[in-house]
Amino acid sequence: MLDKNYLYTPGPTPVPPQVAAAMSRPIIGHRSQEFADLHGQIVEKAKIVFQTANDLYVLTTSGTGGMETAIANTVAPGDRVLALVTGNFGERFAKIAGAYGADVTRLDFKWGTALDMNQVDEVWKKEGPFKLVLATHNETSTGITNDIAALGGYLANSQALLLVDAVSSMGAMNIRTDEWHVDIMVTGSQKALMLPPGLALVSVSSKAWSTIEANPEVRFYFSLLEARKSFGKKNTPWTPAVSLFYGLDAALDMLLAEGLSNVFKRHARMAKAARAGAKALGMQLLADDSIASHTVTAALPGAGVGASDLSNILQRDMGVTFAGGQGQLKGRLLRIGHMGYCSELDVITAMAALEMALYKAGVAVDLGAGVRAAEQALLRI
Ligand SMILES: *Cc1c(COP(=O)(O)O)cnc(C)c1O
Repeated sequence: MLDKNYLYTPGPTPVPPQVAAAMSRPIIGHRSQEFADLHGQIVEKAKIVFQTANDLYVLTTSGTGGMETAIANTVAPGDRVLALVTGNFGERFAKIAGAYGADVTRLDFKWGTALDMNQVDEVWKKEGPFKLVLATHNETSTGITNDIAALGGYLANSQALLLVDAVSSMGAMNIRTDEWHVDIMVTGSQKALMLPPGLALVSVSSKAWSTIEANPEVRFYFSLLEARKSFGKKNTPWTPAVSLFYGLDAALDMLLAEGLSNVFKRHARMAKAARAGAKALGMQLLADDSIASHTVTAALPGAGVGASDLSNILQRDMGVTFAGGQGQLKGRLLRIGHMGYCSELDVITAMAALEMALYKAGVAVDLGAGVRAAEQALLRI
């Protein structure tokens, strides 16, 4: 069997050859002028993708490390935090705040739905104000996107800081960090940014800096004060993952060369195609069209077949990797990632694999129906 894998997990995602090539360059010293130049140029390009004029830091850690950085620098024990939870990653953000001693109020929304501003307003009026509000832009565990513009607009005139996890949407969806009043925006390298795992990027507003500077708690590896100090010399406080920085520079060049608006449209089309295909194969989409993620499609197989059986067939017989459900959806869900180095034809391939897997699992599937529906969605017939 040819050792060819088709990676459709919503992180990590496939790495483009030009990014892989950039990462194979010889290592340079991170205290060199060459690294300083590379670092400076990466941050400028990343700010375009974040649509921010705020400070931005590239941290050698995973996406969760970026989330922890956001919390660790702004939270002191006892601080009141409102965590908006729409799935597994919202839950993680809430847990990190709890781990740092915050007094966390959780507002949970049914998995597969998005956050509802009426409920946020109700909680704010009853229990607010809060020092921090935590939200997930794109909830990877359920395939929904939250309206951060509405949330940011609501909070704009309050004292609260808005911290947003955009790990699985930055570089794929139109995220207006400044216009949406996001104080700390977090992303990771291994999703739409087309890199291997290992980097997190965080932007920090001046409002956030005031809180960070006043925080009595001292942080070390994740200290944004240290990151800011080092960035004065285009440096990092600790040894950065230099190879990933080379890769990030190349990946940002690819995004900017395609044009952000084209990148966003490509992801919207891929999502439409994946949803049309899955639906035509009798799968139930977890999220409503109006809130559907552009980077990951979550679907429940119809009666008579288990999500993990399908996953196993896809992996074993075709070398195709989809993700399963997380948390309360474990074992029930299939998640198809379509972000980063992913084209419309890759989605067609995923649909072809999915319908063959359903057939092999004994489902009376109309072979070609998923591919046809996806193609029709792409051709807008
Ligand atoms: C993948 C992901 C993370 C976690 O990132 P790690 O790199 O695994 O630490 C956080 N939030 C969201 C929404 C994600 O999709």
